[in-house]
Amino acid sequence: MTVTDYHTHTFRCGHATGTMRDYVEAAIRAGITDVGLTDHLWLYFQPNESRDRRWAIAEDQFDVHYAEMLEIREEYRGRIDVRVSVEADYAAGHEETLLSILSRYEFDFVLGSVHFMDGWLIDDPDQAHRYREERVAEIYRRYFENLRRAIALGCFDVLAHFDLPKKFGFLPEEDLSAIVGETLDLAREKGVAIEVSTGGLRKPIGEIYPAPAILKEMRMRDIPIVLSSDSHSPDEVGYRFDRSMTLVREYGYDELAVFDKRQRRTVPLG
Ligand SMILES: [Zn+2]
Ligand SMILES: [Zn+2]
Repeated sequence: MTVTDYHTHTFRCGHATGTMRDYVEAAIRAGITDVGLTDHLWLYFQPNESRDRRWAIAEDQFDVHYAEMLEIREEYRGRIDVRVSVEADYAAGHEETLLSILSRYEFDFVLGSVHFMDGWLIDDPDQAHRYREERVAEIYRRYFENLRRAIALGCFDVLAHFDLPKKFGFLPEEDLSAIVGETLDLAREKGVAIEVSTGGLRKPIGEIYPAPAILKEMRMRDIPIVLSSDSHSPDEVGYRFDRSMTLVREYGYDELAVFDKRQRRTVPLG
């Protein structure tokens, strides 16, 4: 019986509270059997001096953070599976830097995200006005283009918040199912899993990532899933998993992917 929560943050990223230990303890209490520590990789694609400390772990803190993840994984062995991981941004034009950073660490899985497009942090509430300044469908189009490049790069095991541009409730003016389908085809081809995240339920859109229509397309392609909360405080671990578990079952999923040293296995959903 397995329940994953493969998306958690800690105080180190600058916009979350709680230590790793707080999250792991909270996961045990919430009945999670497999927890991923996925704090934000430093903003490697920006010059060090212009990196905003609110968005990611500082580069000079990451090794301490990594060492602590290894320790916690050992300490909790037998009680809960702790996965050493990271939420890493894809940033067009900086692929080689990312690959070189990731190769320095032994992660259990790497969670891939597109939060930045041409320097715009697309999920920052202070920059959400940008969705009113151009056609929303164009923003989604660019987002999925970036996501496809991220998938093609081959360094991500799981994709985070697959339809992130919906966060503030701005939806495309036209049907984008073809572009979504192409993105899912590539994920399938590359063997990348996709998270089903209750994080979206805490946002203006009030909907799980990905949307039901996308989940249906994922199931048709047999794309593996993990459950996650994108928790930014320990009490959000396993946040409303009753909802996501019911949803994925409704769409025909009865298995989850779990990761150990970048190897994926499939296990029955708890
Ligand atoms: Zn994210
Ligand atoms: Zn996150």
